[in-house]
Amino acid sequence: MKKLTKHAKSIADNLIQFLDNAPTPFHATQSIAQRLEEANFTNLKEEELWETKPGGRYYVIREDASIAGWINGKTAPASSGFRIIGAHTDSPNLRIKPNPNIKKNNYQQLGVEVYGGVLLSSWMDRDLSIAGRVMATGINNKKLTKHFVLLDSSILRIPLLAIHLNPDVNTNGLVLNRQNHLAPIFGLESKQKDPLKFLLAQELGLKSSQIIDYDLCLYDLQKADFLGPQQEFIAGSRIDNLFSCFCGLESLLQVSKRKDIPETNCMMVAFDNEEIGSLTSQGARSSFLSSILNRINHSVGQPSPQAYERSLSTSVFLSADMAHAIHPNYQEKHEPQHFPYLNEGPVIKRNAQGRYTTSGHSSAHFEMICRNRNIPVQKFVNRTDLSCGSTIGPFVASDLGITAIDIGAAMLSMHSIREMCGSLDPYYMLEAFKGFYTDA
Ligand SMILES: [Zn+2]
Repeated sequence: MKKLTKHAKSIADNLIQFLDNAPTPFHATQSIAQRLEEANFTNLKEEELWETKPGGRYYVIREDASIAGWINGKTAPASSGFRIIGAHTDSPNLRIKPNPNIKKNNYQQLGVEVYGGVLLSSWMDRDLSIAGRVMATGINNKKLTKHFVLLDSSILRIPLLAIHLNPDVNTNGLVLNRQNHLAPIFGLESKQKDPLKFLLAQELGLKSSQIIDYDLCLYDLQKADFLGPQQEFIAGSRIDNLFSCFCGLESLLQVSKRKDIPETNCMMVAFDNEEIGSLTSQGARSSFLSSILNRINHSVGQPSPQAYERSLSTSVFLSADMAHAIHPNYQEKHEPQHFPYLNEGPVIKRNAQGRYTTSGHSSAHFEMICRNRNIPVQKFVNRTDLSCGSTIGPFVASDLGITAIDIGAAMLSMHSIREMCGSLDPYYMLEAFKGFYTDA
């Protein structure tokens, strides 16, 4: 393996911290916003009038779960376009139902729904906790307030059935019914009428009756960490797609530290709801990105005729999401000419059916950026007889009509509660992203 230099290790360390701080899309968005604030990016609100200037740094949040941060370039977008790195803040998980409290066989349990394509077996026998967003009223008024909550002790578990009671499980596979087999144990039967609200109220310093509703996710308490005799790997939750969010954010911050203002407009956008198809008010199929690009065009300098359309014609969208690394025990699942390896650099994803946006043109553009920075590049296509996953790329590219490319870092165990990736790849991806903003 190429050596994990001190520099590359420190980037991996920061990614590990980012993963641990973001158990939900709300927390991922908050983490990104906090880093942008620290770097003097101005928080623009969608309801306000925007005035921006060349070299200015801004960010905007929608629905607490999608965020875009950008640096206005030296020249107006109409002449230089945008360089946009897109990722997603959400990951498949289990979410608590509105009326969740179940009493059964002396246990207290919580009803949960499945969010996205969860690899359900990986959620069994893990020490779980709860994080998300809670809506509550004030004590003496009816005004709703928003609270972000992150419980950090192990309070939930979905126990596997003992092998003695399910003797064929190793040969037949673990079959889990989503309605019957996923409710985690939440202690023994409680005297509380609503034990979940009771717990949340305690945590937030509220009365149970003040809590009106919530968006709550289950998450694994085990922290992300290095793995392997040479720390070759990182193991943790939500690598898909916080890895790409992290690299997008870090590259933007590094560009913002440079003395010279970048030529073009550099943006990173992280959408919620990719894992459920993006068709929400803050997802990649919403107006979030197009509205921001439009408003930048109108808020910087003298708006020129047809500025928005002209800016799009010279823009490039880099859709960053994870790629399937070759699995040594299931080699036959991969296209033999296209094995993505861990720690071998960004993977360019192609699909003739257009599930990825990459063309020979956009692929060559990205590969040149990497070559010029001595970053290895890999190319991926699915086996021709297997169906292909999807990304935010096609939605954004078709909506805006801009050149796009799908890339991502190689990983194993995608959508497991504990995924893994290479520890050198965050460095490679970050370098490639910086090149995308400034080199071409
Ligand atoms: Zn993803």
